[in-house]
Amino acid sequence: MSETTDTIFGKIIRREIKADIVYEDELVLAFKDINAQAPVHIILIPKKPIARLAEAESDDANLLGHLLLTAKHVAEIAGLQTNGYRIVINNGPDGGQTVYHLHIHILGGRQMAWPPG
Ligand code: 5GP
Repeated sequence: MSETTDTIFGKIIRREIKADIVYEDELVLAFKDINAQAPVHIILIPKKPIARLAEAESDDANLLGHLLLTAKHVAEIAGLQTNGYRIVINNGPDGGQTVYHLHIHILGGRQMAWPPG
């Protein structure tokens, strides 16, 4: 899956479909997951349509660093800084990825289990 095909997340970036946006800057966008798996479940995406983590390249290093630091910031905005949270990136079929636009799940508000399913 090397093509940067359009996805539902591309439509959210372009405001073609609605999402409950919680953070945005010039590089990234964060919005509430439509099918929340925890009391807080936020999706954080780069505006650049990288299909999945495996498609990221060395030129994306600054963007990936920004994504991770923004995940921390968004978790703080969501009130998760004290009790903690989980960051998840699903990559490819075995990883359970369903939307092929790189995204970080930010999950919190309950005790997480391990191992993940
Ligand atoms: P994945 O399974 O690819 O790691 O995660 C995709 C996530 O996107 C899922 O948690 C799913 O609920 C969420 N999602 C899919 N379509 C939409 C949508 O149209 N709006 C929002 N807000 N979330 C979506």
